[in-house]
Amino acid sequence: MRLLLAALLCLASLPALADSYLTRQLNHPVPGGVAVLDLGKAPSAPEAFYDGKPVLVVKEQANWRAIVGLPLSAKPGAQSIQVREGAAQRSLSFGLGSKRYPEQRITLKNQRQVNPNPADLARIDKELAEQTRAYRSFSPNTPSNLLLDRPVGGKLSSRFGVRRFFNGEERNPHAGLDFAVPAGTPIKSPAAGKVILIGDYFFNGNTVFVDHGQGFISMFCHMSKIDVQNGQVLARGEVVGRVGSTGRATGPHMHWNVSLNDARVDPAIFIGAFEP
Ligand code: ZN
Repeated sequence: MRLLLAALLCLASLPALADSYLTRQLNHPVPGGVAVLDLGKAPSAPEAFYDGKPVLVVKEQANWRAIVGLPLSAKPGAQSIQVREGAAQRSLSFGLGSKRYPEQRITLKNQRQVNPNPADLARIDKELAEQTRAYRSFSPNTPSNLLLDRPVGGKLSSRFGVRRFFNGEERNPHAGLDFAVPAGTPIKSPAAGKVILIGDYFFNGNTVFVDHGQGFISMFCHMSKIDVQNGQVLARGEVVGRVGSTGRATGPHMHWNVSLNDARVDPAIFIGAFEP
């Protein structure tokens, strides 16, 4: 009887361990979501890697946690990260669920934005490489906050992950979250960070990348005006630019990407607006 009671108490303590604040807030292990994984109580921060890329690791009370970004292309089923503590390396597995994303049909007057010409394609390739490098940068500092501030007020419009058809032709799914706000609205950095890339791109228009630390990166685009410079260090809430409709946009709105370990994930997760 005493043994049984001890066993029951032991079981009862397990969910409490898994049920941390960060887990409750951020753990949505689906393609385009986030997995919060317990790395235990090592004396110094373990390193974690997903798909060979370094992962954000933070301390929550006594435990280290990996905050893993899961790309839309991730396959539901068994997944794993690699964890390194000094010379020791282990694999930590977790389950990836599935999620259905809706479709959206968009009409563009400018056919070149649907089927770019060869010169445009060369430009797009170069710009993609530049932006991919920014998403893959990994600075050692810990983010000021993982629960992010909304960069603008206003209603959410186009959701993350929506499968998009431009003039009837399927293109990349929506990698960010849109807010319906008028042109000129100031866009505020949702956490402290550093500006790591500024550009005027074919699809994204005026764009700013903000590195919040350890591969946790925000990207804002279609801006009418950029108010920061490359390399600038930003306080939480500092204005990065103004809402606009530059690049491939049907009208003024604020588009925000959030990336972890080079995986674009649903920004709604970080502002408490995730829809399963
Ligand atoms: Zn958008």
